[in-house]
Amino acid sequence: MTPPDQDTPDRPPAPIISRLLGDPRVAQARLGRRIGRLPYFTKVESATGPITRMEGREILNFGSNNYLGLANDARVISAAQEAAARWGAGVTGSRLLNGNLALHEELEEALRRFYGRTGALVFSTGYGANLGLMSVLLGRHDRAWVDEEMHASVLDGVALARANMKRFGHNDPEDLLAQAAEDTHPGICVVEGVYSMRGDRAPLRRFLEVCRASRLALIVDEAHGLGTVGTRGLGTVEDEGVVQDADFITITFSKSLGSCGGAIIGDAEQIEALRFLTRPFLFTAANTPASVAAALAALRILQAEPGLVRELKERVRSLREALHARGLRPIPSDGPIVSVEVGADFDTLQAWRLLWNRGIYANPVVSPAAPAGKGLLRLSVMRTHEEQMVRTVADACADVFSDLQLSHEGRGKVAS
Ligand code: PMP
Repeated sequence: MTPPDQDTPDRPPAPIISRLLGDPRVAQARLGRRIGRLPYFTKVESATGPITRMEGREILNFGSNNYLGLANDARVISAAQEAAARWGAGVTGSRLLNGNLALHEELEEALRRFYGRTGALVFSTGYGANLGLMSVLLGRHDRAWVDEEMHASVLDGVALARANMKRFGHNDPEDLLAQAAEDTHPGICVVEGVYSMRGDRAPLRRFLEVCRASRLALIVDEAHGLGTVGTRGLGTVEDEGVVQDADFITITFSKSLGSCGGAIIGDAEQIEALRFLTRPFLFTAANTPASVAAALAALRILQAEPGLVRELKERVRSLREALHARGLRPIPSDGPIVSVEVGADFDTLQAWRLLWNRGIYANPVVSPAAPAGKGLLRLSVMRTHEEQMVRTVADACADVFSDLQLSHEGRGKVAS
């Protein structure tokens, strides 16, 4: 038998590969990299703090989800180190089989107690928690009602279930009510406690009423609410008094808890059912000991020191006030994400670029993450930002908006 020829230079790629390489987004990324303007995959060369080394420079970082600064906390880091030394670098298997460490169960116990619920299930990522929950709850003839700003992990879970998805207007429970009133399919409603792009909070009390009236299960993704909203940092569910009422709450460890992984919180019986049925939980390796131990240490710090949430909120207030003082109008919220509407995608990328030139890292949000023409500049606050840093970023944003002749109120280009 002749061995397959691996070096045939002229062989055209299979059509499916050509299509992949020809995707306009890939072509755009290639071009962006050539002209050095790509705002994505920025090379990070240090731990993620208020000042982070990126692409060879010390950068003022307003683009990280390390809201409470716990990713760099010495206690969290040593918990990760000790866990790796004790349990190994990885668990080499699914929790169903050989990967179910006592450490995973300890974190589940701590999480369910933190939320005052009876069950919790730990996943290797927050993405997996949402993917798993949607795909296990929904069947092909069910309905998923999702906010139009919903995170990709939820959309992908609905797609995996091949369920029918319907969108309602952003943060608009009345739109949900109007649409769901006519619908007889069993269904779920999914909202985010704090929206990842716009940073605003969901009116959860009203959503709960609408879900009850429409016989829908309510799921709240608190990826950005954990550690940032509520007196104890449970998320918007705490502020709105629905911790016990939401059917499920999903969280990630990759933001306030400074680690990696995610969880579903709910009632014991339902969580036990999920443990046996959820394919994105069963058919993947368990989260690493270091990540689980870091999340557990961070959770314990958050529980023992609710003052951390207060300090973060003070920083958020300072940034909002500083932006307002310079005429800018961020989308109203009190969560850690402070987004300012810019307008066209091109202007949004330009604004990002001008901030980068001044040594500031933020996140541009352009289509499809934001509706076309409604690009955002997203600033994420860390508890560890200093007041001077907050003033610096506010000054820079005001200058950039002026330089690009953008309306400070977020109405796009000012006519010149
Ligand atoms: N939900 C939301 C709202 C998110 O913003 C994210 C992370 N971007 C996730 C879920 C997924 O979390 P993870 O990073 O842990 O996969």
